[in-house]
Amino acid sequence: MKWEDNVRRVIPYVAGEQPNKPNMIKLNTNECPYPPAPGVEKRTAEMNCDALRLYPDSNTTPLVNALAEYYHVQPSQVFVGVGSDDVIAMAFMTFFNGNEPILFPDVTYSFYDVWADLYRIPYKTCPLDDDWHIRPEDYKQPNGGIIFPNPNAPTGLLEDLAVVEEILQSNRDVIVVVDEAYIDFGGVSALSLLDKYDNLLVVQTFSKSRAMAGLRIGFCIGSEKLIKYMNDVKFSFNSYTMNLPSQLLGVEAVKDDKYFKETTGKIVATREWVKGELKELGFTFPDSMANFIFASHKTVPAEEIFQALREADIYVRYWNKPRISNSLRITVGTDEEMRCLIDFLKEYLKDKA
Ligand SMILES: *Cc1c(COP(=O)(O)O)cnc(C)c1O
Repeated sequence: MKWEDNVRRVIPYVAGEQPNKPNMIKLNTNECPYPPAPGVEKRTAEMNCDALRLYPDSNTTPLVNALAEYYHVQPSQVFVGVGSDDVIAMAFMTFFNGNEPILFPDVTYSFYDVWADLYRIPYKTCPLDDDWHIRPEDYKQPNGGIIFPNPNAPTGLLEDLAVVEEILQSNRDVIVVVDEAYIDFGGVSALSLLDKYDNLLVVQTFSKSRAMAGLRIGFCIGSEKLIKYMNDVKFSFNSYTMNLPSQLLGVEAVKDDKYFKETTGKIVATREWVKGELKELGFTFPDSMANFIFASHKTVPAEEIFQALREADIYVRYWNKPRISNSLRITVGTDEEMRCLIDFLKEYLKDKA
């Protein structure tokens, strides 16, 4: 079949499963266990369906303005997309268009190599050290751009801003993308470095800390010039990416800072408590600053625990991949959900001793 020679073949990203069982405990895709801000529900009830006749604002102006105000930047420095996956895909398409390989960690968000393959971008991975930390010296080789999450996924480890800055300092001639999907759970954002580095792009999302994975809202902040280039690509691809409800409801989420701080604070408190419980059960893990814990058991293989949990309708994430095949990524849910998880593990591991 001749046409098949011309197909753009890709091996797609595999997202965590989305089972829908009445009593399941879903700790596999890092969603927020609490509902979105109350204003989101209120605004949903007030939504006028007639407005759906029209195309939405292709600049997502109200949401861009709300984010600019919240993060103390100019609206011209904000780009909004359909989840940060869309934002990062646009950034890859816009900025990673050279011949040198782009760089990212070997253990990281498993979408980066998929986008690189899709867009035919050469890439090279830099191994994390034995404690799962990024080695900034690896990012001092010739490259066509850099991307890494901070905190990293799936390890949950946060790098100091000094490490981020060291990477920026040695890469003034390429775009450095910091994927801050999990920054709101206790990390320090690289946004403060924007004034110093006009090649920095900071990406964040409403999917985790703002409890809105279902609405698909992501954004990035960078210098005006970077954002302009991204908009040029976006408007050459699909002008109306973000639907009207997402635009309106996103604004409501940004407005309620008190609720945002409350829910992220609760998740952080639960995370710290769960760390202690897991340690007692014989698990080890990098000291997560995200809304998940990347845990290995000292005697029982991760895959076995994963299966046992699954049979009990407790879903966590497991990858049979080099370096991480003995770890489980466990999303931090509510206290009750985590209590169930811990109780289950206690019983399960008792029989294995
Ligand atoms: C979840 C996640 C994203 C994507 O989130 P969206 O739902 O598309 O906003 C991006 N990067 C990392 C590291 C993530 O974990």
